[in-house]
Amino acid sequence: MTRAAGKIYIVGAGPGDPELITVKAMRRIQEADVILYDRLVNVELLEYAREDAERVYCGKAPGAHAMRQDKINETLIAYARQGKTVVRLKGGDPLVFGRGGEEALELAARDIPYEFIPGVTSAIGASAAAGIPITHRGYAASFACVTGSRCHDDGKPVRWDLLAHSVDTLAIYMGVSQLGEIREQLLMHGKSPSTPVALIENGTTKGQRVITATLEDVHRIAAAMKLTNPALIIVGDVVRVREQLIRAQRQASALSMIG
Ligand code: SAH
Repeated sequence: MTRAAGKIYIVGAGPGDPELITVKAMRRIQEADVILYDRLVNVELLEYAREDAERVYCGKAPGAHAMRQDKINETLIAYARQGKTVVRLKGGDPLVFGRGGEEALELAARDIPYEFIPGVTSAIGASAAAGIPITHRGYAASFACVTGSRCHDDGKPVRWDLLAHSVDTLAIYMGVSQLGEIREQLLMHGKSPSTPVALIENGTTKGQRVITATLEDVHRIAAAMKLTNPALIIVGDVVRVREQLIRAQRQASALSMIG
C-alpha cells in the first residue's frame, strides 16, 4: 500500500462569529483542496476558501439525514488517498463534543497524516458574548463542559451527583431537549433552587439571545421563551456577574448623561 500524500486538518471554526476563528485555521481554509463542514459552522467562512476548492456539507439538511459518521470517515480517507489537502471544519472546538478524536483514530489507523487545530468552544465563546465570566474570583474557581444529551451516555453516564457538588460553573452542551431532566438531577443532588442559570441561544452570532432564570424556574422560562438549538446552558453564580455588568453600565451611562 502506498502512503497517502494528502493531509487532513481537523479544524475548529469557533462558536459562530466568523471572526472568532484562529489565524491558523483561516490559513488552512485558504489553502485547502476540499472542505468538509458541519452544520454549526458559519458558512461565511467558506468564502475564504479557494474558488476551486470542493465544499462538502456533512451536516443535516432540513428534511434529510445527516451524513453518517462512517460515510464521513470514508470520504476523508478517499480524499487523502487522492493526495488532497482537506480541512475537516467543525463548530467550536473539534475535540469538545465534536467527534474529532474519532475521525483522527480512523485516519491514524490508515497512516493518513492529520493535524488538530483547536477552536474557541461555544462554552467559552457564548458565555463571553453574554457577559458571563466562566470563572470569577469569589464566585467560581472551576468549570466543567458537560453533555446534556443522552446519546453521549453510552458507557459513560454524566455524573450529575458529583457535578452538582464539585464544580462551580457548569457549561452544558446539547441540553435543550433534556433541560427538565438536567434540572431535576441537579436539584435532586443538592444544587440550590436559587442557583442562577443562563440560556444562550446562537451565542456570538447576530441572532444571539440570552435568557436568565434560576434552577427552580428554568424549564418553564425556556418553554415560555421557546428556546431552540443551538443553545448552551450555564449554571452557576457567575451568571450574576452578567447582571452586575449590565447594572454598572446603566449607572455609568446615566451618570455620563448628567455630565
Ligand atoms: N464542538 C462544539 C460543540 C458541538 S455539540 C464546540 O466546541 O462548541 C453542539 C452543541 O454545542 C449545541 O447543542 C450547543 O449546546 C452548543 N453550541 C454550539 N454552537 C453554539 C452557539 N453558537 N451558541 C450556543 N451553543 C452552541
